[in-house]
Amino acid sequence: MTSSLILVEQFGPVRRLSLNRPDARNAQSQQLLEELDAQFDAAQADAQTRVVVLGAIGAHFSAGHDLKQAQAERAEFTVEERWAYEQKIYFQYCMRIWDFPKPTIAQVQGACVAAGFMLANMCDLVVASEDAFFSDPVTHTMGAAATEVLIHPWVLGLRQAKELLFTGERIGAAEAKAMGMVNRVVARDALEAQTLELAQRIAKAPPFALQVLKKSLNRSMDVRGMREALSAHFDLHQLSHVSEEYRRTKEAGLASAIVRGAGA
Ligand code: ZN
Repeated sequence: MTSSLILVEQFGPVRRLSLNRPDARNAQSQQLLEELDAQFDAAQADAQTRVVVLGAIGAHFSAGHDLKQAQAERAEFTVEERWAYEQKIYFQYCMRIWDFPKPTIAQVQGACVAAGFMLANMCDLVVASEDAFFSDPVTHTMGAAATEVLIHPWVLGLRQAKELLFTGERIGAAEAKAMGMVNRVVARDALEAQTLELAQRIAKAPPFALQVLKKSLNRSMDVRGMREALSAHFDLHQLSHVSEEYRRTKEAGLASAIVRGAGA
């Protein structure tokens, strides 16, 4: 059941998938994202699994994409190569979680930054521990136009999203709850139990009804243009990857960005 970078646990009808690179603050390498996508395939196919919890091992949910790997393997990517790579590994892998036909809950502690922010917000609900914090600093640190999936205004509201992105500053769990992005804030030592309890309660509902209810709820965002807006942002995000600003900011800032383990 367990692949190397994703820990898989079953609690009756609830399956928990946990990012399992705690020494790297769960930086999302290509291998981690491919394994996570494969585990969502498996959870989708498993009739016993009715709810999926997306958690993380260690002190932090995720500090973002694995910038060391990006620098080592993709620094010289052409426009065409980066487009294809990010379209599949970042954008489509995220959107399949948004579109996953069973309810999902993000279980978040510590840093939830950049691509970590993006990934957690693909889930239907978010439960955060009191020490959790959220940010997307990559415009400041990398000169990139935010992360690939601009989910921020859809989960935060436009003004809150603008402040978060324009400043690059972090918001705490209680603040994120007040903004409507987080459903519940719990003590760190109660995070797993409270998230699982919520998941078990949801899992009692008939699964087909839940599936189509989720589809309808997500469509309420689609009719407001969410999917088109996300797709359009992906295009401009790619443009920002080939700007002079990006090149200069990355050259000046990548070393410190790597130290923080977060990036676009
Ligand atoms: Zn990117």
